[in-house]
Amino acid sequence: MQSFEELVDEAYNKITKVKKTVLVLPPIESEITTTKQHWTNVIPILETISRDHNHFYSFVKSETGKEISWLSADRSEGLIIHGKRQSKKDISHILMKYIKKYVTCSSCKNSNSTLTRENSIEKLECIDCGMIKLM
Ligand SMILES: [Zn+2]
Repeated sequence: MQSFEELVDEAYNKITKVKKTVLVLPPIESEITTTKQHWTNVIPILETISRDHNHFYSFVKSETGKEISWLSADRSEGLIIHGKRQSKKDISHILMKYIKKYVTCSSCKNSNSTLTRENSIEKLECIDCGMIKLM
């Protein structure tokens, strides 16, 4: 059986063992014309943050309020956001908002997390510190 001191040590180690990690994203690549923006590297970015393309698609659609579509069936060629007067900043802002809401842990600030969905409730779970956020 463990002594009280050992239990305290163990609990303390659990708290302090969360190491800070920095999320390194590929820079956004996009081509802008007068009528649309073509975000070419959406999929590599989603792979970096381990998030589902359908979930991200719905988020971008609701945030932009614009018509959006994947350029190819396998989505590898990126996303088209229709509409005039766009900038790379627009999608960068949306991506940061998405990461803050669905990737970054509000407790330890790391980005090593999973997002699952049960019924209509989304659950963000931090792999590093165990924080669970229901949305
Ligand atoms: Zn955490």
